Amino acid sequence: MARDAVQVTDTAGPLTLKRAEKYGFCAGVRIADRTVRRLAAEGRSGQILGQLVHNERVVSDLVQLGFATASSLDEVGTGTIVFSAHGVPPSFHRRALERGLLVVDTTCPFVYDVHEEARQALEAGLHAVFIGDSAHREVIGYTRDLDPDDYDVALTTEDVGRIDFDRHPRVKIFYQTTLNSEEYEDVARAIESAAQHAERADTICYATKENQDAARALAADPVIDCIVVVGGRHSANTKHLWEICRDTKPRSYLVHGSDDLRADWFTDCRAVGVTAGASTPDAMIEEVEGAIRSLAPSGQLPAPEAVP
Ligand code: SF4
Repeated sequence: MARDAVQVTDTAGPLTLKRAEKYGFCAGVRIADRTVRRLAAEGRSGQILGQLVHNERVVSDLVQLGFATASSLDEVGTGTIVFSAHGVPPSFHRRALERGLLVVDTTCPFVYDVHEEARQALEAGLHAVFIGDSAHREVIGYTRDLDPDDYDVALTTEDVGRIDFDRHPRVKIFYQTTLNSEEYEDVARAIESAAQHAERADTICYATKENQDAARALAADPVIDCIVVVGGRHSANTKHLWEICRDTKPRSYLVHGSDDLRADWFTDCRAVGVTAGASTPDAMIEEVEGAIRSLAPSGQLPAPEAVP
């Protein structure tokens, strides 16, 4: 599901920059971001329910464009409300319309598929178990309107231990789309061994995994001397990308913007790899790349080498 990023290899300066094959926004967030920017360009304004993307810079850009973040539907008095890519509980559409709000729904189609599959599972008499973070907006979207007796949310095997499988012997497992299934295999297995009948829904979105695989490939490239990972200060997936890179390429650095770069990182560097977390806009990546080029004085660097 990650967007098919064009690999960018920039050999114009004294230093070669190479981006990971996949990086940055997933398709759902990219469409949501574009939609809001297009509305702003048309002279419209409104509010976004929850952050469109967990990135302070993007949030403040959107405020400048006339789209502030609302933390609850009740905060939005009039005008336009944007539902983000992670979706909302279905009742929010009705509530917004009852209040006369104009809804711009950027919910990712893949998230809508999960809503639909969960609905069908409940109709078939299965108990829904969502593997995910109960405080994440996507999971709130799936669960808020359900009868609490119809579902559970589990993030750890301890959470699974608290589920009453005597009352709910037949379950269907759903994942929060952004999770890496391999990391939660123990949670899924714990559910399967505790339930009488368990089936898994294929709800993992591969956008995150594809960004991670591309970061791994970038770090394994012998031509790359060091890697800069760009992302929001509180972005867990950016930190994870950095850890993946650092495992193979110790000279991997996590930055939240161009101000965090240090010239000494690039001493003796001929090729710098660049990747970015799922909440990082292209403009921020380009800004960091420009700063890397300016920090690497041509006199101190060997001639660039083409990176395949
Ligand atoms: S499912 Fe989630 S992670 Fe995947 S493209 Fe949609 S919003 Fe992005």
